[in-house]
Amino acid sequence: MHEVGIIQNTLDLALETARSSGARQIHQLRLRVGAMTGVVPEALLFAFDVVRAGTIASDARLEVENVPAACWCAICQSEFHSEDSLYECPRCGAMSSELRHGLELDLVSMEIS
Ligand SMILES: [Zn+2]
Repeated sequence: MHEVGIIQNTLDLALETARSSGARQIHQLRLRVGAMTGVVPEALLFAFDVVRAGTIASDARLEVENVPAACWCAICQSEFHSEDSLYECPRCGAMSSELRHGLELDLVSMEIS
């Protein structure tokens, strides 16, 4: 499962940040996940439950912020949201080759003490 690797990397990053700030506990992690990453938020939460065990994040909450896919249309010079994997501009019908949002997989913030 793809999600385990992602959450393991995120947790490692969070643990390292917490350690270098001298924190003893991680209370919350906030992750931004793009719609085009193929990541299932429920699977991410489930994987988090497994990987956090025995770490200083064992009681932490994981919040997943979903980012909808957004494409850029060079003809209309505007951004549009794409519901599926078809990057077709709703205004002019042109196919966009530029995905501006939807591939995010970032640790946005964390609460530590
Ligand atoms: Zn367009």
